[in-house]
This record gives sequence, structure tokens and C-alpha cells, in this order.
Amino acid sequence: MTGELDINILDPHWQQLQSLLRVGQGHEASAYLKLGVSVIAADPWTGEPRKRLVSHAFLEVSEPDRISTSPLHVTWSTRGYMRLLSEAMNADLMPAIVHTHPGGAACFSEQDDANEAELARTARLKGTRGLASIVLGGDGSVAARVWAPSGERVIAQSVRAVGGRVQSWSSGKPAVDAPHLERQARLFGRGFNAQVRSLRVAVVGCGGTGSAAALLLARLGIGHILLIDKDTLDETNLSRVHGSRRSDATSPTNKVDIIEREVLAAGLGTRVAKVIGWVGEPELRDGLKSCDFIFGCTDDHSGRLLLNRLAYFYGIPVIDVGLRMRPVPGGHDIFGRVTTLVPGQPCLLCGKVINAQRAAEESLERSDPAEFHKRKQEAYVIGAGDPAPAVVTFTTEMACVAVNELIAALTGFHGEGGMIPNRARRFHAQDDRFLGVAQSPVCPVCSQDHYWGRGDVQPFLDVVG
Ligand SMILES: [Zn+2]
Ligand SMILES: [Zn+2]
Repeated sequence: MTGELDINILDPHWQQLQSLLRVGQGHEASAYLKLGVSVIAADPWTGEPRKRLVSHAFLEVSEPDRISTSPLHVTWSTRGYMRLLSEAMNADLMPAIVHTHPGGAACFSEQDDANEAELARTARLKGTRGLASIVLGGDGSVAARVWAPSGERVIAQSVRAVGGRVQSWSSGKPAVDAPHLERQARLFGRGFNAQVRSLRVAVVGCGGTGSAAALLLARLGIGHILLIDKDTLDETNLSRVHGSRRSDATSPTNKVDIIEREVLAAGLGTRVAKVIGWVGEPELRDGLKSCDFIFGCTDDHSGRLLLNRLAYFYGIPVIDVGLRMRPVPGGHDIFGRVTTLVPGQPCLLCGKVINAQRAAEESLERSDPAEFHKRKQEAYVIGAGDPAPAVVTFTTEMACVAVNELIAALTGFHGEGGMIPNRARRFHAQDDRFLGVAQSPVCPVCSQDHYWGRGDVQPFLDVVG
């Protein structure tokens, strides 16, 4: 196995794992997980291969399989384990064993080494992609590793519990403290700075909201930023794209190049990667899969559709921003929206944020521009009309709201639940609404857990064409 390894545990599974520490009543307890696998051929910042495992399903060790437990050991029969291996094999998932150290810290004891070597050997003979092992300490610590089919043991660099709150445990040494982040450490503590420095965050769409979000993320100390946008700056963008200059419009400059220039000029140690292209292009997959958070700052419905699925398949929180403003008789309607997508929460389809017809038209415009323009002439397409109104103060304010959700995920500053699923700001009515979106019981993306943490599948995100 080559490259770094990290593990994302989805919040519904994390809650089940936490219950192991309670049911054991001081005795060690165990469970199984099936993990989706995300193989990254080249990380956009280092160019190195990486692997991420994402929890897909939690399985109890059933009562008859528990042989004995004490505060210092747990043993269980291999019946359930063999079933786990078969199920993981059949679905191309990685099997994982989880056990607790209720009286202490998470680490791998000599006893664990010996037991796991035997279990890993069985997994290897069965032909699985390896065997993961996770230990939960009674002190709140977490440790994880993978036994590769070669027999090699790979320690996970980090383990994250991903939900409205995102908690992480790192096996490496913490990032070097950055003096320029001193003032925010006074509010959130030094651990916050170490955490933001380790994060990899994509900004999809570098217009009014995306440019503001990207520059805020750099100031906040985010260590790695990936910028994605296919467009060059035009004159009407000068009113809202932060960092843009008149000269960027007179000699057309890519928006990602403008933001990269500004982030690097700030000299804050941010590593920037960029892609000029549409978010759905296959070349972008490694970049998106490498991220810990993704900001959706695009108007593009087909791009949103892709990010919407990605959040559930890979357990990567997506923070999606949208604005809609228009003159109405006697005034203005000015709406801003920030939706956060994590498994367990309703998706953008359930929130009716994505217009499926527009998404289909955008796909047609990319694949067959002549046909798209023909239909447009015949007025069969609903989109691609006059540009929508946009004002810098509103787009920038919603970028702040969106980045604050990331801070909320890390700190819980506006509530223990962390990120708010859906916030609609009505600028014209001076209020915020927290809309309870009903999850459709038949939603193909978010309602059925068979996509949660599924990781790599063929075709990508189970989307044909
Ligand atoms: Zn142990
Ligand atoms: Zn949904």
C-alpha cells in the first residue's frame, strides 16, 4: 500500500461506535465496520498517492458470538467475522474490526498485534482488500491502522468523525503554530489552528461568493486550498470578485489564477492547487476526493448535482451557497442560502435547490452545443437567459455565513450540533430562517444508506453517462 492513509467515520456510525464504550461497563467491547475505499492517484497539493477509507455500515458482534470480555480483553467467535469478510468481498469494501480500551488511551497493544495478525491472515486468504482496525480509548482518543494484503501495517494519519460536527484525531505531529493566527487561538484554542492548518478545502466556483470564501479560508489559516472554475474574468465580474483588477478583465484572466495570485501574495503559508475546468470533468475527481470540506459556490445545477452525490459517497461535507435577488413590485426580494450536506441530513434534491431540467440543459450545452443553441432559439430551454442580478455585499455576506459553518463544524460555536443543515437569509426582511427540509423517503441520494460512505464505485458516483 502506498501513500498516506486517513479514515472518515460518518456520524451515524460514530454514534454507534461511541455506544460501545458505554455498553461495555468497563469491559472491552467490539464491533465491525464495512468501509468504502477512495483511491487517490495524485493528491493535488503533493502529487502523491493517498487512500481514504469511509465508513459505509456498522455491524454488531451478535450476542452468541461474544465469547468473553474483561476490562483488558475481548474475544469473539469467528462466525460473524467470516460473514463480514464475505460481505466486504462481495461489495468491494474493506472490512474493519473495532474494539475499545475503556480504561485508557487508544493504542495497539502487543495482544492486539498478535490477534490482528491472525485475523488479517484470514482476511488475506479470503482475498479482501486488507483489514482495518480501529481502537477507541475511554479517554476519547482514537487510533486506526490497516493491514495491507502484503502483511504491511499502515497507521492512519488521521481519523475524522464527520457529521454536523467534525472531530479529528491525528497520529502525526501537529502543524507548526502560526504566529499570525494568534488572535483566533485566543477564542478557539491552539488546537483549532492546528486543525485548520491540516485541512484540505475545495472552492468550486470562484465568482462573487467563491472568491470571498477562498480568501477568507486563507486568512483563517486553512492549509490547503483547491480552486476550481472554468471561466475568465469579464468586466461585469469586477463588481464582486474579490482580488480582481481592471487589468484582469482587459486581458482576460482565469478566475482561479486571480484568487491564487491574491492568496499567495498574502504570504500566509497556504498551499494552493487549481483547476481550470468544469467540476464534473474526470480529471478533477482526485482533487475533490482529497478534500476534507468542499464549498459549492457555483450557479451550475449539474455541478451541484455532482457535489450533492459526492458528499454522501465519500463522507466529505459540502457547504453549498446560493443567492437569488430580484426587483418585485414595491421593493426587492434578496435571498441568501447556505446548505450543509453530510450523510444523515437531507440533500439538495430534497431541498429542491437543484433544478433537474436546468442540469440536463447544462449537460447538453457541454456535450452538444449546436443542439443546445438550436433548442434555445426554439425556446425549449428554460435557462441561459439574461444574467441574474448580483450585488457584492450580499454575495460576500453569504460567503462569510458559509465559512462560519466550517468553523461551527470544528468548534460547535453556534450549537453542539455544529453545521446548520439549511439557513435562508432574507436580506429584505431582516431575518434568517432555518428551514426544516423533509427528507424524501425515496430520494436516490440521501435517504438510503447504501450510498453513504460507499467510496469508489464504477461508474463514478453510480451515475451513468
Ligand atoms: Zn486492544
Ligand atoms: Zn435527498
